[in-house]
Amino acid sequence: MSASPPVALTIAGSDSGGGAGLQADLRTFTACGVHGCVAVTAVTVQNSVGVTAVVEIPPSTVADQVRAVADDIGVAAVKTGMLASAAIIRAVAQVCDEVGIGRCRAVALVVDPVAASMHGDPLLAEDALAMLRSELLPRATLVTPNLDEVRLLVGLDIGSPAEQREAARALHALGPRWVLVKGGHLRGDSPCLDLLYDGSELTAFTSPRLATPHTHGSGDTLAAAITSALARGTTVPQAVGYGKRYVEQAVAHAYPLGAGVGPVSPFWRLRPETEPIRCGGKVHKPP
Ligand code: PLP
Repeated sequence: MSASPPVALTIAGSDSGGGAGLQADLRTFTACGVHGCVAVTAVTVQNSVGVTAVVEIPPSTVADQVRAVADDIGVAAVKTGMLASAAIIRAVAQVCDEVGIGRCRAVALVVDPVAASMHGDPLLAEDALAMLRSELLPRATLVTPNLDEVRLLVGLDIGSPAEQREAARALHALGPRWVLVKGGHLRGDSPCLDLLYDGSELTAFTSPRLATPHTHGSGDTLAAAITSALARGTTVPQAVGYGKRYVEQAVAHAYPLGAGVGPVSPFWRLRPETEPIRCGGKVHKPP
């Protein structure tokens, strides 16, 4: 028997293409040394060129999944991704209070405020934004919007680091303990600048801008790596530093898949298989 790893839970949608959503979260959790549990919110019909359909899971079933995991297995940190609808957000906020997840509770809550895919396909109903603002952000330990999500949440169009700072303050006023404003979508050749803000101090995290078209799942992967670090007991600034380093490598190892945008890769972390597998008197060599 081995010692049990820390447990992280993702409350997220499924991506049939396997590059983003709960699939990216679970791969990242595994590669970052935590056991991943999942509360599915929606099933997307999706490939490398876009999302063609979304089927939502009933809000009570989303909450039941969270309750089932929290009551029996226990969780050290939680992440939300695609939440699809106002009713699901309300159910998630309620069950988080019930089982002790969130900024004033024992278990950290990382909210990735997913609104649309990089192809522009909606992943959150328009009428759900208000619920995200009023019910989930005040419960978040950390919220991790990209610039499009910042515009939707606080109505600011960001074109410079000064405006990024203003957005961090505006988002913090909505109630999360920490805000990470991701600058990866800023145009230009300058390094990617992400700003972390706790209401008093701004910390800048920079990383090189890598030339790859294959960035599907990068936001999920960053938030999942941060959640993994929190599950392992780090502080929020340490977790963000860890997540940034992790996703930088995942983007550097991104690969093409299908005709459109390929996924970032968590596999840089895993060693290739070298040992043969012995089974029923046969020896299977690694490929
Ligand atoms: N599909 C699902 C189910 C997601 O949760 C997300 C992001 O969280 C996406 C797609 C979008 O990923 P990207 O914007 O990296 O394409």
